[in-house]
Amino acid sequence: MSSLPIADFTTVRVYAKRVLTEHRAAFVRMLSIYAVAAVMSLVPAWVIGKFTNFANDHALTSARIILYVAILLGSSLSYALFTFLARRRSYVLGETIFAQLREEFLASVLDLPLTEVERAGTGDLLSRTTNDIEALSRTVRFALPEWLVALIQTALTFVAMLIVSPLASVASLVSIPFLVFSTRYYLRYATPGYRRERISYASLSGTVSETAEGARTVDAHQLGRRQATRIEGNIRESFYSEMYTMLLRMVWFPIVESSFALSVAVTLGWSGWLVLQHSITIGAATTVTLYVVQINDPIDRIVSWLDELQMGQSSLARLVGVSVVRDTRPGTSRTPSNESLTMRDVHYAYRSGHDVLKGVSLTVEPGERVAIVGPSGAGKSTIGRLLAGIDAPRTGSVRVGDVDLSEMPLAMLRRHVSLVTQEHHIFIGTVRDNLALAEPNATDEQIRAALAAVDALEWVELLPEGLATELGTTGYPVTPAQAQQLALARLVLANPHTLVLDEATALLDPHAARHLESSLAAVLKDRTVIAIAHRLHTAHDADRVCVVNEGRISELGTHDELVALNGEYASLWRSWRNEIPLDS
Ligand code: ADP
Repeated sequence: MSSLPIADFTTVRVYAKRVLTEHRAAFVRMLSIYAVAAVMSLVPAWVIGKFTNFANDHALTSARIILYVAILLGSSLSYALFTFLARRRSYVLGETIFAQLREEFLASVLDLPLTEVERAGTGDLLSRTTNDIEALSRTVRFALPEWLVALIQTALTFVAMLIVSPLASVASLVSIPFLVFSTRYYLRYATPGYRRERISYASLSGTVSETAEGARTVDAHQLGRRQATRIEGNIRESFYSEMYTMLLRMVWFPIVESSFALSVAVTLGWSGWLVLQHSITIGAATTVTLYVVQINDPIDRIVSWLDELQMGQSSLARLVGVSVVRDTRPGTSRTPSNESLTMRDVHYAYRSGHDVLKGVSLTVEPGERVAIVGPSGAGKSTIGRLLAGIDAPRTGSVRVGDVDLSEMPLAMLRRHVSLVTQEHHIFIGTVRDNLALAEPNATDEQIRAALAAVDALEWVELLPEGLATELGTTGYPVTPAQAQQLALARLVLANPHTLVLDEATALLDPHAARHLESSLAAVLKDRTVIAIAHRLHTAHDADRVCVVNEGRISELGTHDELVALNGEYASLWRSWRNEIPLDS
């Protein structure tokens, strides 16, 4: 099972840059306030240095003491105040950007071609919408602002050290080679390590959700042991990938800590020696050493958030990867010249090298009813998916008028052709919301008319709040038949001229309530209908019957013509008449 794509580094960078540029002004404001706070945090060490010098020179007076205490208190209070203001801004900004990322991600998820989701399995998508969004939220809300703040603090502290004594400051640089080398080493191994960790979570949640969703099948075929073994394998993989990154951290953190201790010790020794040489004052030595102690904290944050930024980056790559898929569907705004649906010499394969359709050509005229029949596995449902534009042919073309279905934006495609499936899903929201999904600008009148067309208006009006009644898991419970009616009403609103009806999955279940059949009939009225007939009674009533065998159309004509031809259809028909089920 191939997973959804992961965006490459350049794509992620371009994306991140675009989002950050959109919020540049807010970023600059937030960082400026942090810079003021950082300057305030530098005052105490400077005051202590001054104080030490006066004490050393026996020049301390009570006025000076009071002044320095006042400066210290003032700077500490301002530090607290500016930090508070900046932090508030950074949280608001983080939430804003995160909301934007989430919305853009959701939009690309909804634009995903169904084939891609089916190919990749829902586990991958599920893990991206949960684990990766979660990881990204930490990065955007905390890691990124904290990291930028730490960067500013480090730079300003270093500048302050240089102002106090450039000579004494050089000692603080001793930790840099250790930090740079250990961090580079760490990141080189950590990046693929975290990616592997995420992929292992995706497989795990995929297997677990697949097992839970298919619980009945698992039970029926006694696949419990097999699924458990798979889940254990997934857990083992997650465990080892976590162990790996943990080991890396266990090596890296102590190196970082020791290099900080080293820089403080070296600065103390070096500035002490400079004092002995009378190159700097004892106050400058004190201030610089205090700054080195102080600078270690933002440096530590810079390197430790790198870790989180990396995870955020790999999550962002997986989230942006989803929108990469969307770009594969080029949009055309051309309006088709007419409403006929044509397949021309179509070849299609689910797996490369195994063509399921081997040169299918078929033209369905507006208003026509075509039934597609044939033995199980012949390729009927595949033809249906191609005619509904869900899959694109490998070679050949499927067009409405003169426009390829695969070129149409999804919103436009659905106004031409819809695949009717056993769509039960009720979304959380009102009745109106549930219908407006098909046509966001629909008026209440249009919604009522659509409900009336499928015989659903009566019961909807009896709901506690009519169209405004909340449905879905938390709302008013509707029966499966009612859910089906709402799905049909959605089709009426979307108003495609052509419907592809796959009976294997569609509403024409012989056990379905009679009124559902009349609802369906209302929807089919005046439209072009291509029915994938798994039962032959549909074929009898169709304008034309198309017999599919091993990926090719073997016979095409009216029911009577094909019966008279006395070929494959005639024998299928005879055997069906003898009530031998054809299929399913
Ligand atoms: P029918 O609707 O006539 O029963 P289908 O179009 O469902 O036939 O299937 C045609 C062939 O394609 C079959 O051999 C089937 O196994 C294969 N097939 C169908 N769906 C998939 C899929 N998602 N992945 C791989 N092979 C598939």
